[in-house]
Amino acid sequence: MSGIPGSGCPGRLLILDDEEAVGRTLGFIAEEIGFEVRACTRPAEFFATLDAWEPTHIAIDLVMPEMDGIEAMRLLAERGCQASIIITSGVGSRVLDSARRTATEQGLKAVNAISKPFSRELLRRLLSGGHPHSGTRLTTAGAQHVDAFVITEEQLRSGLEQQQLQLAYQPKIDCGSGALAGFEALVRWAPTPALLILPDQFVPLAESSGLIKLLTEQVCEQALRWFAQSFAAPTALTLSINFSAKNLADMHLAEWISDLCRQHGVDPAQVILELTETSAMDDPVKSLALLTRLRMQGFQLSIDDFGTGFSSLVQLVRLPFSELKVDKSFVMTALESHEARTVIKSIVDLGKSLGLRVTAEGVEEAATLDYITSVGCDFAQGYFISEPLSGRDAAAWAAAAKG
Ligand code: C2E
Ligand code: CA
Ligand code: CA
Repeated sequence: MSGIPGSGCPGRLLILDDEEAVGRTLGFIAEEIGFEVRACTRPAEFFATLDAWEPTHIAIDLVMPEMDGIEAMRLLAERGCQASIIITSGVGSRVLDSARRTATEQGLKAVNAISKPFSRELLRRLLSGGHPHSGTRLTTAGAQHVDAFVITEEQLRSGLEQQQLQLAYQPKIDCGSGALAGFEALVRWAPTPALLILPDQFVPLAESSGLIKLLTEQVCEQALRWFAQSFAAPTALTLSINFSAKNLADMHLAEWISDLCRQHGVDPAQVILELTETSAMDDPVKSLALLTRLRMQGFQLSIDDFGTGFSSLVQLVRLPFSELKVDKSFVMTALESHEARTVIKSIVDLGKSLGLRVTAEGVEEAATLDYITSVGCDFAQGYFISEPLSGRDAAAWAAAAKG
């Protein structure tokens, strides 16, 4: 994924492992596939090399005498490190799993974990970016994607004013029949035709600067227009749109989006508004009023990234949701992590017992789709089914799926 542009070299791997022999083995495998490699056994040397050499990939041991891997990753996150991280360790899969999640939550990119002794093949796949867990995926062909980009509020405001947002649409299928069930709209920002910035780089800024209202309105307008133009009513397909917690402060939202649906001839029952677990629980009393209104207008409501927050069951039962989306961090690791499978199964059971539909996102392999289907998930979304597509490609995908 993050090779060195124009150099023909797939990347620079920096290793931190207190056992020299492990570093050598790792380095040897990486060199075989063309990587430049530096291995360090001590943290001080590691951080000095990091600054001077700017690796594209970092392999880090969890258990080390001077500084453990968790602390090292915290320091990496603090420095805004953009390298892909591979955690290597002999500790059990449960510890590796939580180390990986901790690192991801701190903002590190493309964090993968492999157990020692590691298989040559797996390491090779991780380094080549071929492994399903590798961070950012490309969506709209031809454009360069930007991982780390310093954006100012003024730039974002002017981008919004100039209507530079684009939407990608990711198909969602019915697990039982495999049929297309709908699409999720995912926002991108294209300041120039050659640049496509992913939402994690600008949605938080939009939220903190008050631009989120404008952003959400533009997303809803584009998505509903696309949906109405691409699928003649009546259609059974659904359109999912992401909302931010900040949008819940806008009490007129329910009327505004209902009007918009009316203008486009879209039935609100086909529109699913996705809210992250934490956002819906931020101010449950206020959320309840607005979410109830939205439900009364006919919209479906979904809890996104479920499993990453700390919702109380009481709130979950109180709030009028119709769908749970199992966070992709569990789904992506389902095949290798017993803990992830346990979480998925518990979430599905919880959802079912509350009468909610359950969607698994982040399905990257056929076996994962089989697994989530076997535990009772209703819908699936992920790279195995399709990456997010441009509006035109998504409509073509739907037509082809119909046969
Ligand atoms: P999300 O709502 O959880 O969306 C799913 C993200 O996972 C998308 O990233 C999607 O491209 C990616 N994804 C889909 N399938 C797979 C898979 O199989 N494997 C992996 N590793 N990733 C997969 P994207 O487009 O970068 O969006 C990131 C987040 O930005 C979204 O997470 C959502 O929280 C936020 N976002 C996107 N569009 C909007 C929007 O219009 N408004 C707001 N407020 N937030 C948005
Ligand atoms: Ca979502
Ligand atoms: Ca999600």
